[in-house]
Amino acid sequence: MTDLTHAPVAPAWLASRRKPHCLLCGGPTVFTNIYIPGKRSPAAPPPGKRRMIIYSLCESCAGKLDTLAEVIETKIENELRSSAAT
Ligand SMILES: [Zn+2]
Repeated sequence: MTDLTHAPVAPAWLASRRKPHCLLCGGPTVFTNIYIPGKRSPAAPPPGKRRMIIYSLCESCAGKLDTLAEVIETKIENELRSSAAT
């Protein structure tokens, strides 16, 4: 299950890692988010470890986060698979 917990303001360490372009549409970003890969992800951490993937969204896409969560996960997973294959 996808955790869509929202924090009203990103902590400074996370905000400083904001990507310049929205993961989904390429627009200028406003929000920084964290994806935690599951056990079957190509980026799954070793047992006992955690891994976070930071991504950013524009205001429009972030406003639809609840309905786009699966699209976001799929896009990140596909990018990880394609980068692992090269
Ligand atoms: Zn966007």
